[in-house]
Amino acid sequence: MLEFLKKIYFPNIKGLKGPLGCLNSARYGIAWGVIGAAMDCYDSALRYSKERIQFGKPIGGFQLTQKKLAEMITEITKAQMLTWRLGVLKNEHRATPAQISMAKRNNVHMALTIAREARQIHGGMGITGEYPIMRHMMNLESVITYEGTHDIHLLITGMDVTGFNAFS
Ligand SMILES: Cc1cc2nc3c(=O)[nH]c(=O)nc-3n(C[C@H](O)[C@H](O)[C@H](O)COP(=O)(O)OP(=O)(O)OC[C@H]3O[C@@H](n4cnc5c(N)ncnc54)[C@H](O)[C@@H]3O)c2cc1C
Repeated sequence: MLEFLKKIYFPNIKGLKGPLGCLNSARYGIAWGVIGAAMDCYDSALRYSKERIQFGKPIGGFQLTQKKLAEMITEITKAQMLTWRLGVLKNEHRATPAQISMAKRNNVHMALTIAREARQIHGGMGITGEYPIMRHMMNLESVITYEGTHDIHLLITGMDVTGFNAFS
């Protein structure tokens, strides 16, 4: 069956090069996709912080809200830079699977953290369907497991830097 599928989907490729190439591309795509989810959560939280009045002023005027927003945009920007650089390497056929693992792992975790912070800024409204936060959060809770779990990608980075396999 496997041979049959390989003939259909990867007619000119020997071994696991084809399937592993698909995984690399899918993980690279996830690294960008979750940045979009994080940006949507950030955007919603920023707007809400300017509209929601508590204690006589918009909650965006409080230092603790600004700390959350400032850290969110910083992490989004760092993930964009990491993934942009990876894209340049990929175009040059120089991106390694370990580099792609690092981006997938970092960006999904970053997006989940931002979704949680954005949920806090929305207060009780954050759990409702009126805002996109919970939809992104539930999706990200799946993405952190598929296309390589958070822990396994960490082990890939660990093996890349040490040369030792800690999988088994
Ligand atoms: C929404 C969704 C969609 C999916 N779509 C697909 C799909 O289209 N195609 C497909 O093939 N699969 C798909 N999967 C399956 C996904 O790839 C697996 O769930 C994932 O690889 C983890 O495997 P597992 O569930 O068997 O967990 P396990 O392998 O049992 O892992 C459980 C936990 O143990 C940890 N762990 C396992 N081994 C080690 C180790 N050696 N060292 C340290 N920690 C370890 C893992 O990181 C994880 O945290 C999907 C999963 C989800 C949630």
